[in-house]
Amino acid sequence: MSKNYRAELTGVFGDPVDDNPTGVVEEAGFAAAGLNYRYLTIKIVDGELEDAMKAVRTLHMKGINLTMPHKVKVLPYLDELSQAASIIGAVNTVIQKDDKLYGENTDGKGFLKALMDNDSAPKGKNITILGAGGAARAIAVECALAGAAHITIVNRTEERGKELSALIAEKTTATSEYLPWTSSFKIPANTDILIQATNIGLAPDVNGKPDLDYSTITAEMTASDVVFNPPETPFLKEAAARGAKTINGLGMLVNQAALNFTLWTDTEAPYDVMYRALQAEFEE
Ligand code: NDP
Repeated sequence: MSKNYRAELTGVFGDPVDDNPTGVVEEAGFAAAGLNYRYLTIKIVDGELEDAMKAVRTLHMKGINLTMPHKVKVLPYLDELSQAASIIGAVNTVIQKDDKLYGENTDGKGFLKALMDNDSAPKGKNITILGAGGAARAIAVECALAGAAHITIVNRTEERGKELSALIAEKTTATSEYLPWTSSFKIPANTDILIQATNIGLAPDVNGKPDLDYSTITAEMTASDVVFNPPETPFLKEAAARGAKTINGLGMLVNQAALNFTLWTDTEAPYDVMYRALQAEFEE
């Protein structure tokens, strides 16, 4: 059999993108699975996306991740969208198959898997989400598609919060409401799963903590944070101190990377290897 020296290409387009650790996670997975794949972390600034997406076709890449500021702007360059990506209105993963570019959103799916892995499935549950940005949007849609009963959106900017709540109510079977983020916000008592989906606590803001009345978090709640750097945020520490089950942002990131891995390679992802690779990045 002749040798194949050509690697299959995947990667991410973004700006800023230098501190995105996904490449370490994917490459660890490719190596463990014995796949000749590469994951390239590529700076693409606003205005360059059209050329970059043409390059995905020209270079016969298996696919590409999109991060800030491209997740919404990529839509016109794609041939097809998944149901979730179409409702969310944003794509973080593109798969190239038979010369077609297929858009998926694995942000929310990765989060959902992390909930499932921690025995906190959203089906029939009341969910409160802090934030209404890209991550919150993906999470809210996936939780609703997974059968959540009610989703409360709490956001600093009213317009964005109301828009997400209306989207959930219109496009999914879950009911939804928006609550303004008042000072020392009290978590609704019927909340089963509380999700911190803002940037608060993300490095370098490592002491940042959402403005909440933390005494309203109870031991019956699951508290989850999307921030993965650092993994143990002040929000999670406060929730753990009230006896809540806590889930950090590492699982979401690795699950997402594992889903992308399978979409690009048609191979089961070596999750444990990928998780350890990410964890090692935070162990200096
Ligand atoms: P966006 O910029 O789209 O949204 C940011 C959200 O945070 C908005 O709702 C914004 O409110 C809110 N926010 C920011 N600062 C404050 C503040 N001081 N007080 C109250 N609300 C605030 O960002 P993303 O949704 O893309 O990302 C959010 C976080 O999710 C980031 O930390 C990112 O690292 C993390 N993330 C983690 C992933 C993982 O795999 N673990 C995957 C994707 C994202 P407003 O609308 O009022 O501006």
